[in-house]
Amino acid sequence: MAAVFNQIAIIGVGLIGGSIARAALEKGAAGEVVLFDGNADALKRAGEIGFGKPAAGIEAAVANADAVFHCVPVGAMGATARASIAAMKSGAILTDVGSVKGNVARDFRGLGRSDIHVIPGHPIAGTEKSGPDAGFASLFENRWCILTPEPDGDADHVAATDRLAAFWTALGSKVERMDAQRHDLVLAVTSHIPHLIAYNMVATAYDMEAVTEGEVVKFSAAGFRDFTRIAASDPTMWRDVFLNNKEAVLDVLGRFEEDLTALRKAIRNADGQKLFDTFTESRRIRREIIDAGQDTASANFGRDKPKT
Ligand code: NAP
Repeated sequence: MAAVFNQIAIIGVGLIGGSIARAALEKGAAGEVVLFDGNADALKRAGEIGFGKPAAGIEAAVANADAVFHCVPVGAMGATARASIAAMKSGAILTDVGSVKGNVARDFRGLGRSDIHVIPGHPIAGTEKSGPDAGFASLFENRWCILTPEPDGDADHVAATDRLAAFWTALGSKVERMDAQRHDLVLAVTSHIPHLIAYNMVATAYDMEAVTEGEVVKFSAAGFRDFTRIAASDPTMWRDVFLNNKEAVLDVLGRFEEDLTALRKAIRNADGQKLFDTFTESRRIRREIIDAGQDTASANFGRDKPKT
């Protein structure tokens, strides 16, 4: 295929940045990939793996890029964007992959370069692994990528968004445009609160004095094991998600607590019908996710071994 961008820059060469770089080269979506990471070992490793050309500094990395992808933790996005914005060429696209969009969009839009297209993004794809070795080219296939362009952007901005959408489509993603606040609410429900619950469940099991840590590990059944997989996700990334999506997370958490109280009441009152109805509805939603192609019904919780 003809490359969507002649050159892209990846700032942060971990799971997501490394996967974009691999996929862009493998699928021909970018002619060249230039890399930068604040972690010198990660940058060196990325160069050894060969999914792009390491640059000597962040300004050198972005200087000739048509699109710059910031793939660092959400709390570091503002700093990497500020450090590189002056070196970007006019007309280029400034984007990211952060799991929260409202705060990132605010940071990016305050950078004072009206000749740069700011189009924050979020691929809804990932694993609990981190670092340059964790990425793989097929990560984004059949997964959604949400873009949050300026709602009142001019024709040039719309054209730049179309180009960025074409890039993600070339990587195998399905692209949706959304308002940043809407994104943060939807993701609080589908990703952020589930992670918080998993972190809390594992912490509770670990803290329970009546059960030893050995028993938790030895008798860990599928339910708990699935929680531990989610709770093995990168602590820096998830700290930043909760600090930057505070409002939506607290909102959804309030609803969750109300529903949990209703389930507790049903157990106390031996209200089997309430429990049965709730569990039946959950099963239907799981079926819908499988039917929508966002997971499989296989016993490994739908996670096939990643292709490299
Ligand atoms: P990762 O594997 O940990 O990679 C991030 C890389 O950025 C690391 O090499 C890190 O170095 C580097 N870095 C951190 N702060 C930096 C800074 N100030 N300047 C330059 N480099 C810096 O993380 P990831 O899982 O790819 O996540 C990256 C972004 O993608 C996050 O914003 C996350 O919200 C988003 N995201 C993640 C997933 C997922 O499932 N993981 C899914 C969708 C979106 P150190 O290791 O030294 O910190």
